[in-house]
Amino acid sequence: MGTVKTWLFDLDNTLHDASKGIFQAIDHGMLKAVQSATGLCEQRADKLRIEYWRKYGATVIGMEKHHNTNAKEFLRSSHDFNIASMVHAEPQVAHKISRLPGRKIVLTNAPEDYARQVLDHLKLLPHFDGIWAIEHMRLQGRLRPKPSIGLMRQIIARLKTPPSNIALVEDTLKNLKSAHKIGMKTVHIAHPMTPFAISDKVRPSYVDVRVKRLGDLINVPMLWRTQHIQDHA
Ligand SMILES: [Mg+2]
Repeated sequence: MGTVKTWLFDLDNTLHDASKGIFQAIDHGMLKAVQSATGLCEQRADKLRIEYWRKYGATVIGMEKHHNTNAKEFLRSSHDFNIASMVHAEPQVAHKISRLPGRKIVLTNAPEDYARQVLDHLKLLPHFDGIWAIEHMRLQGRLRPKPSIGLMRQIIARLKTPPSNIALVEDTLKNLKSAHKIGMKTVHIAHPMTPFAISDKVRPSYVDVRVKRLGDLINVPMLWRTQHIQDHA
């Protein structure tokens, strides 16, 4: 097991707890944006929002593909709310992240402006070397967010780092599965409110390490020192 030199951190339900208001605000913003783009009633628009999210991993992809919606404008209008009162994270999260050795990058299927606001609010911005948001996840002109294998390959090429030296820290298992397929290390943050989560009693074979909170990462020296893989849940 190689040493982690680059950490890719997911944003929602990984660096902060989006389940205490932010997800509801995003869902509502998406619903309004779908409604305004399609003219559908609230109920049908919400069905479509969920259908595209499940099918493509992000509602915006379905909107771009089937309704010719401007992705940038859709993302802006669906995340147009004040995040300050809704951001919740574990205590001293910036300190905990700063203690981890290596380069850190946020890898999120959310838009960059929103990611930047959340990171800024949590005083995390200075600890990250970059934000790779959904706007940056285009392959041959099409949005290809996580869990796209093509995206994962593109990341490795751009980072100029062997995959075994990159760790993806995530709450969404299917994203970890893709990362594992191309040889990255995978760290599962077991968040109870993650959509489509499976039982946290089972650690799938594609998950190298599982932790319950970010503060536990520093207690997993195996990521950079030993050969052992174990369960920290
Ligand atoms: Mg997440």
